[in-house]
Amino acid sequence: LPVLAVVGRPNVGKSTLVNRIIGRREAVVEDKPGVTRDRVTYEATWNGRRFKLVDTGGWEIDVLGLDAAVAAQAEVGIDNSDAVLFVVDANVGATDTDEALIKIIRRAGKPVVLCANKVDGPSAEADAAMLWSLGLGEPHAVSALHGRGSGDLLDAVMAALPDAPPQTFGVVEGGPRRVALIGRPNVGKSSLLNKVAGENRVVVNELAGTTRDPVDELIQLGGKTWKFIDTAGIRRRVHLTSGADFYASLRTSSALDKAEVAVILVDSSEPLAEQDTRIISMAVESGRAVVIAYNKWDQMDEERRYYLEREIEQDLVQVQWAPRVNVSALTGRHMEKLVPAIETALAGWETRISTARLNAFLGELVASHPHPVRGGKQPRILFGTQAGIRPPRFVLFASGFLEAGYRRYVERRLREEFGFVGTPISISVRVRE
Ligand code: GDP
Repeated sequence: LPVLAVVGRPNVGKSTLVNRIIGRREAVVEDKPGVTRDRVTYEATWNGRRFKLVDTGGWEIDVLGLDAAVAAQAEVGIDNSDAVLFVVDANVGATDTDEALIKIIRRAGKPVVLCANKVDGPSAEADAAMLWSLGLGEPHAVSALHGRGSGDLLDAVMAALPDAPPQTFGVVEGGPRRVALIGRPNVGKSSLLNKVAGENRVVVNELAGTTRDPVDELIQLGGKTWKFIDTAGIRRRVHLTSGADFYASLRTSSALDKAEVAVILVDSSEPLAEQDTRIISMAVESGRAVVIAYNKWDQMDEERRYYLEREIEQDLVQVQWAPRVNVSALTGRHMEKLVPAIETALAGWETRISTARLNAFLGELVASHPHPVRGGKQPRILFGTQAGIRPPRFVLFASGFLEAGYRRYVERRLREEFGFVGTPISISVRVRE
């Protein structure tokens, strides 16, 4: 669904407006400075079109001060939106905070609809007209409290929102969870698929016109239906003399595109190959949840086990956070552990940390482990927010450049504190002077 970010400083009546638009009394109508709450997302419909509404909230974080915290929040909210509804209190007119927000909105280059709120009577209409001077086009005069003008405002919003929003990570909502089974040739993908599918395959009625060679398979496991992606490519074992690697990696990347979670199969009876680490990197970079399955465990012996532990420490540092299962597609060993591992990884992938919790954690981290002083200056993390899930993405606002070692430290501590098992996380840093 297209996403509309509702942006404005505290007390302009954003939450009342959001309530008006969603037709419920749900948004927190407490734009009281000092109340920290997260961007709240609602679904709304207007003239049969559905869209998402993100209320960027009333914010105050001590370290940043009110203006900067509102700005930081708005920035992240706008980044994740398709259009912006900018709300100004017509009675007060544009303040410095409003001007600062306008700069951020302009920089983002997204379509904007200007709402002049609190136009409760005719005398306020002149105030609304003053807002033409902001250069954001027509100020739509609205009384969020009494409902006046909200229909016209929504018409303008619908015109600003794109019909089909840009694809976000190829993730569609609902339906069976989508699993990509990946790994280099001969690690046992096809054997594992046969083992887990067994009698658990969901037979889809062969309607006229449906393909006889379905690429994806629905498999019932642990009481749920899962969609295994591109299984035709796994079963149809292509033997190519040249270009095999190329086709294998093409298949891997297209399966990852469509999946939510990757089960990476590794042959535990052989040393880790370069192709294994390449596939692992592809999965991590795709931003999918990850489970590592060591197959052919029936062939495991003392010596191999010794080397395997070394490999895991040295070559798999990039996926230390992934759950591991040691299985055998041949004997069926530990097959029942696969689904819990997948579910753990998906849960980590969808974890959302509230801004209040995140900033409490960051405050402690900065106090107990400050960034080293560089060139007489000490960069500090001022404020952070989680910009998204699937996978978790964080934006940190800092007073200076944070070096790589410190970023890694932050990631490690985030994982220690909040888990994030089975998911890559991304942290981006924005520097504030
Ligand atoms: P794919 O290319 O990844 O689909 O691999 P296959 O499923 O075709 O398996 C490659 C070879 O490994 C076949 O000879 C399988 O019988 C064998 N194999 C697969 N899984 C296991 C296992 O768990 N243990 C043992 N010992 N052999 C296995």
